[in-house]
Amino acid sequence: MSEFVIEKPVIPSVAVEGETARFPVRRIFCVGRNYAAHAREMGKDPEREPPFFFTKPADAVVDAADSDSLSIPYPPETENFHHEIELTIAIGTGGTNIRQDNALDHVYGYATSVDLTRRDLQLAARDKGRPWDWGKAFDLSAPLAPIRKGTDFDPTSGRIWLEVAGEMRQEADLSELIWPVADVISIISQSMTLKPGDLIMTGTPAGVGAIRPGQKVRGGVDGLADIEFTIGERA
Ligand code: MN
Repeated sequence: MSEFVIEKPVIPSVAVEGETARFPVRRIFCVGRNYAAHAREMGKDPEREPPFFFTKPADAVVDAADSDSLSIPYPPETENFHHEIELTIAIGTGGTNIRQDNALDHVYGYATSVDLTRRDLQLAARDKGRPWDWGKAFDLSAPLAPIRKGTDFDPTSGRIWLEVAGEMRQEADLSELIWPVADVISIISQSMTLKPGDLIMTGTPAGVGAIRPGQKVRGGVDGLADIEFTIGERA
């Protein structure tokens, strides 16, 4: 007799560079407006409003390791589908009330990722005081390049960039993060227990914009594997 009354869901997972074993994804936390210039382009004042959090479901993750052939379909119900290049933190050791000065000890590795966004749905929800889920937490909304494990990557500085169809759209430096990586880990862990398998998308710099079917998206963070995929026809 089976342990479950329906088929057991598969644990989402992503590739790790140099490993055949995969990184299991437990939750996806996301930071909103963590670069001042992006907060301003969204019509907000970063001096008055600090960054904040939202989430995506674990199975929104897309393993972008096989980037030559990866196609992500244009999602339903949007006419304004946006790219947001982001550094993602992969948590290897959980904890509560993690101090900033040892926060990086909880990191398994880092990856380049894109927070795909149905901007029209997100802004409509924002302006009505409704949750962001329909704009942010839809299927296939979190493509992730292979995780680079270890602590030799320095998340306090380094170029982060994204181009669409060969045109540079986003270009900034991790040193511009309002909440740096150690702060993000510490702040989340004050509110809920971080656990192994949690991913944290740390926010996007300025230059977000629309992507259309047939366009190639490429992005990177210095020191990590690039991410690359093509936007397919509407799902
Ligand atoms: Mn984002």
